[in-house]
Amino acid sequence: MQNTQQNSFTPRDHFFMKQARLLARKSVRLEEVPVGAIVVSPSGIIIGRGYNKIERNKTQLAHAEITALTKAAKKRGGWRLDECTLYVTLEPCMMCLGAALLSRVSTIIYGAPSHLFGLQSIITSLPPVYQAHTRIYQGLQQQECGDMLKHFFHTIRSIQEASRERTTIIHTPNERESLKTSNRSSDPLDQCK
Ligand SMILES: [Zn+2]
Repeated sequence: MQNTQQNSFTPRDHFFMKQARLLARKSVRLEEVPVGAIVVSPSGIIIGRGYNKIERNKTQLAHAEITALTKAAKKRGGWRLDECTLYVTLEPCMMCLGAALLSRVSTIIYGAPSHLFGLQSIITSLPPVYQAHTRIYQGLQQQECGDMLKHFFHTIRSIQEASRERTTIIHTPNERESLKTSNRSSDPLDQCK
């Protein structure tokens, strides 16, 4: 397994990462942390798509990558995703990295780093079963992917500040739900999903 920073991504890579970013926007519409992922076959066809829905689905298994890998496996008729590429807007967490490696994807390309939940801290200590030949590249459209997260958490912080300033009693279920959503950490690039 290689973990590499590559500065010469192809137009095809940029195209597919843009598709992943478009998916991440769907997370925002659900008030979820924006993360999108796609799996691309060797012939360049998108066979799996996913975006973060952990709040909506009430499970950590609803990470973008897990959804994309699951759909790709279904499309292929098996869990082996040899020669496929996983594009994801945020550095995968341990769970998603493990799932991608065990699925035998050949390449993982991600955008923004996640220093707290990302794979960097564990990559040298994985057990042999995970030591596949997967290539990992970071930093594709890092700015755009990171900005999306920053904007999301900036909005969350604004809601939190506004709620602190409020002195009126919360009456409606929608208002209570809005406050619940706002109780998230405000450190965007340290978030996973
Ligand atoms: Zn994950």
